[in-house]
Amino acid sequence: MIVAIDGPAGSGKSTVAKAVAERLGIHHLDTGAMYRSVALKALRAQVDLADDALVGEIARSAKIDLRVLDSASGTRQSAQPPQVLLDGVDVTADIRTPMVDQAVSMVARLPQVREAMVSRQQEIGARISLVAEGRDVGTVVFPDAGVKVFLTASPEVRAARRHRDLAHTGEKIEASAVGEMIDRRDEADRTRAVGPLAAAADAEIIDTSDLTIDQVIDRVVDLVRSRS
Ligand code: C5P
Repeated sequence: MIVAIDGPAGSGKSTVAKAVAERLGIHHLDTGAMYRSVALKALRAQVDLADDALVGEIARSAKIDLRVLDSASGTRQSAQPPQVLLDGVDVTADIRTPMVDQAVSMVARLPQVREAMVSRQQEIGARISLVAEGRDVGTVVFPDAGVKVFLTASPEVRAARRHRDLAHTGEKIEASAVGEMIDRRDEADRTRAVGPLAAAADAEIIDTSDLTIDQVIDRVVDLVRSRS
């Protein structure tokens, strides 16, 4: 079974996807962590982030280990993002810096990068049940997903959430600057030619602005149970 959760930055996707996976006892796949890992590797290699062939090669050769097995234990985990290993090295914190935030949409728009990531995601989904979250999961990666959810929230709420996440990692950055950064990222994600941020026609749209995380989790879990 595949549960696809898409939405813009700060819509609550990661927290909700992780918790829903734990409640259902299935795996959680954070596709954004994969694009972030490619962006980090491209930044470190100091290649032109607009070069499809070069960054595509980085995407194809990068060994990205998402530790998707954590959720399957069924135990309630903390709200931390999944551990990410890039070429065997833990980059969990490194992929969530403002530098990667700014670079990731540039590499995520490249057709060769998307092709490499989408096929890896589809390979994982062919083997195991997943709650997969991202931008194009319900539209491109798993168009036949049993449940599709698109999370939204007001720009203010999304900026505040992202600001809080960054503050937790020790980043000192103004809330208004965070708002501008996620606006730019969403605009780039929404307007790119391949795999843009979009709700699938058959997705359930949930505005999380005035809901608690537990309310959103309950709604998604109810939706999954009503379909299975
Ligand atoms: O979900 P997260 O905010 O970590 O995603 C980081 C970036 O990765 C997004 O802004 C987007 O550019 C890219 N992404 C994507 N397609 C996905 C997931 C993420 O293009 N399925």
